Amino acid sequence: MKNLLGGKGANLAEMNLIGVPVPPGFTITTEVCTVYNQKGKDAAVSLIKSEVEKAVLYIENLTNTKFGDKDNPCLVSVRSGARVSMPGMMDTVLNLGLNDLAVQGIAKKSGNPRFAWDSYRRFVQMYGDVVLGMKPDNKEDIDPFEEIIEHLKEEKGITLDTDFTPEDLKILVVRFKEAVLRKTGHSFPDNPWEQLWGAVCAVFDSWMTPRAIYYRKLNGYPEDWGTAVSVQSMVFGNMGLTSATGVAFTRNAGTGEDIFNGEYLINAQGEDVVAGTRTPQEISIIGSKRWAILAGVTEEERAKNYPSLEETMPSLFHELNKVQEKLENHYKDMQDIEFTIQEGKLWMLQTRSGKRTGEAMVKIAVDMLAQGMIDEKTVMQRIDANKLDELLHPIFDTDALKSTTLLAKGLPASPGAATGQIIFFADEAAKFEKSILVRIETSPEDLEGMNVAQGILTARGGMTSHAAVVARGMGKCCVSGAGSIKIDYKAREMNMAGKTFKEGDWISLNGSTGEVYEGKVQTMNPGVGGDFGKIMGLADKYTRMTVRTNADTPNDARIAREFGAQGIGLCRTEHMFFEGERIKAMREMILASDTAGREKALAKLLPYQRSDFEGILEAMEGFGVTVRLLDPPLHEFVPHEEANQKQMAKELGISAEEVKSKVDSLHEFNPMLGHRGCRLGITYPEITAMQARAIIEAALNLKARGIDARPEIMVPLVGTVAELKNQADIIRATAEKVFAEKGDRIDYLLGTMIEIPRAALTADHIAAEADFFSFGTNDLTQMTLGYSRDDAGKFLPDYLSRGILKQDPFQVLDQSGVGQLVEMAFTKGRSVKPGLKVGICGEHGGEPSSVEFCDKVGLNYVSCSPFRVPIARVAAAQANIKHAK
Ligand code: PEP
Ligand code: MG
Repeated sequence: MKNLLGGKGANLAEMNLIGVPVPPGFTITTEVCTVYNQKGKDAAVSLIKSEVEKAVLYIENLTNTKFGDKDNPCLVSVRSGARVSMPGMMDTVLNLGLNDLAVQGIAKKSGNPRFAWDSYRRFVQMYGDVVLGMKPDNKEDIDPFEEIIEHLKEEKGITLDTDFTPEDLKILVVRFKEAVLRKTGHSFPDNPWEQLWGAVCAVFDSWMTPRAIYYRKLNGYPEDWGTAVSVQSMVFGNMGLTSATGVAFTRNAGTGEDIFNGEYLINAQGEDVVAGTRTPQEISIIGSKRWAILAGVTEEERAKNYPSLEETMPSLFHELNKVQEKLENHYKDMQDIEFTIQEGKLWMLQTRSGKRTGEAMVKIAVDMLAQGMIDEKTVMQRIDANKLDELLHPIFDTDALKSTTLLAKGLPASPGAATGQIIFFADEAAKFEKSILVRIETSPEDLEGMNVAQGILTARGGMTSHAAVVARGMGKCCVSGAGSIKIDYKAREMNMAGKTFKEGDWISLNGSTGEVYEGKVQTMNPGVGGDFGKIMGLADKYTRMTVRTNADTPNDARIAREFGAQGIGLCRTEHMFFEGERIKAMREMILASDTAGREKALAKLLPYQRSDFEGILEAMEGFGVTVRLLDPPLHEFVPHEEANQKQMAKELGISAEEVKSKVDSLHEFNPMLGHRGCRLGITYPEITAMQARAIIEAALNLKARGIDARPEIMVPLVGTVAELKNQADIIRATAEKVFAEKGDRIDYLLGTMIEIPRAALTADHIAAEADFFSFGTNDLTQMTLGYSRDDAGKFLPDYLSRGILKQDPFQVLDQSGVGQLVEMAFTKGRSVKPGLKVGICGEHGGEPSSVEFCDKVGLNYVSCSPFRVPIARVAAAQANIKHAK
């Protein structure tokens, strides 16, 4: 139903079915949006005109009103709704149906002229903005309607919107309409049908705005989904002191705490709560008291000026509380709801699964399991593996915090730690490498900048403001409503705690406490216990594949092990040749003119390699450690600039010419397809022998210390079985030699990477010589698609933006192309060796959809960088749950 009616439309229908009070209305399906985008306005309108007219009649009958009637007008809201929620991304128009006559009818009928004119000025403002394109001329300017409001406030000497009299509101309407005529050259439409079609088409148009396109790209949503349009009879939160409107979450979307929370405003309409223009009040007493502490408001002031809904309208609060319980139990997930109270009657305007932080996602899933609402498998399916990344991000070092200056306090809108340079405009967020976007409030236009920034700080707005909701969805640190900061966009500066801060100054935000600090604050790594640990435990329970890590140092191996890695799937050895004295010995080896010279230099490298391997094998005690033999071309180890070549000549006691001529001789036109991988080991067998010796000696040394070392030696870039055989012979002979010398043996595996298409095609031959295969999908992608790993950046962005590729194949495995080779090599390999161990160690090993594919094919393990290990563990379990079904 969501695909057709959009999330909002489908849930409105469902709420109606389960007996939750919803204003009558209808939904135009997403298919119409697709027609609109493909065939244009006329085609879409003529397709649905008669049905819409019938549906409006239905609302009229139910509400006993008439569209366009001057005494008893039917007013509606027009809202967008894609199949997934895209908060604030698309547009909404309220109070549609009003004109100069209808407003008088409403005033008379309600006996409340202020309400009528307030609704009318809001309608003209919203319609002007959304449908007629009344936006500020440039970014430093404020909204054209807000400017008119501010002027009138000055003229009248008032500060609050609520102080406007009906006469003031009439003036606003007149001035708004004049502004529309001035700017657009057209009068504001008075005909309700013209208004309705204008609004419906504006919602369709909003599907193709840059911000909606960007949001879809960010989340991987396809363009052809389209948006639905829900048209509903209006209910009013601005009919006086017995009316209100609000937004609430059935649990805390930032922390996951199981507490009903939200914000409301008396005598207001929906957009007032989320727009951040008035300070919204908390709905529950407990929430209100917590807010007061954070905002530095005394209990007396709180109770007087900011009381909770539970205090102002206790029976409606209890009714709302019952409805939220019912909705959460029905959908079995945390809900984000919108409600309006019209003259003491509660209406629900929306419910949807609430956007949440990674921390909340984990806690809510674990709590719902404990509360018996969902089962273990559902818990696993509720985890967005990529979102776990947020929980692995650094937090502020508590010691470092003690010596920093606290500048301001706002609301803990979205947790995390962020340090960066101040920027005031979203479109400039990329100006600094790390920026903090500081705004009075954010709007949907700021989406891209919010994503680029490290964190977001706003002066206005509550926990449900645009900034807060969007930041939580992105897992981005956000402090909202820090009322003490004063921002001057024109001067590009702000004032906090009596100090002036300019664009480019460093500040730090703690999104978990709402605190703003001066300068940079040191961070530290978070722990992985608690609810996170429970999710990991379930991941292990439901997984079939194991998860290994790609690590080249004992430290990385230890981190990965803490994150649950069971072994190393790829230890690249080339990095081990760069540090200090090693690079000298490596260069000596490269420059040597004969085998003897090379062996002499390699003998110097041996002890370094051996101790590196000892460290890594020890850190991964009890688990397999796949060590890959030297892979990159030798030119990567020698200097190319003249000055560095001279320095190298001096160090090695040879002439600069000799160095230069060797460097020149190493030049290759296409090094990626040149003298690298096993090709090096074939021309220089002594390199393979040295590395094999270092690995076996390291394992034996550990064995002597009682440590369970499990080395697996991996030959890179094999394309024919003869290449593997050549290297395997050297490795086995070396191992036997070392065993004889040491008078002891250990078990080891000998395998190969499958990263050349020919290796995949002939995997049955290759398997005869291998104990294991590890798919090097970085090179396999490069060679299958014929895209250079180093140069693809030049054209991939165009391919992606034009839809020639749906995803970057170096990040997300190209299942239909490269995937065929993976599947074929797996099947061929296992056909000759049923026990062949098979894994993946390319970047794709930590990407959830690729992990799912690996599970489907039947791989034994995936391997990824240490910080992706928890993500891969969850993805592996999810895949197994899905495939086992
Ligand atoms: C690969 O090619 O996928 C791989 C893991 O090796 P590297 O990235 O080092 O070439
Ligand atoms: Mg490779």
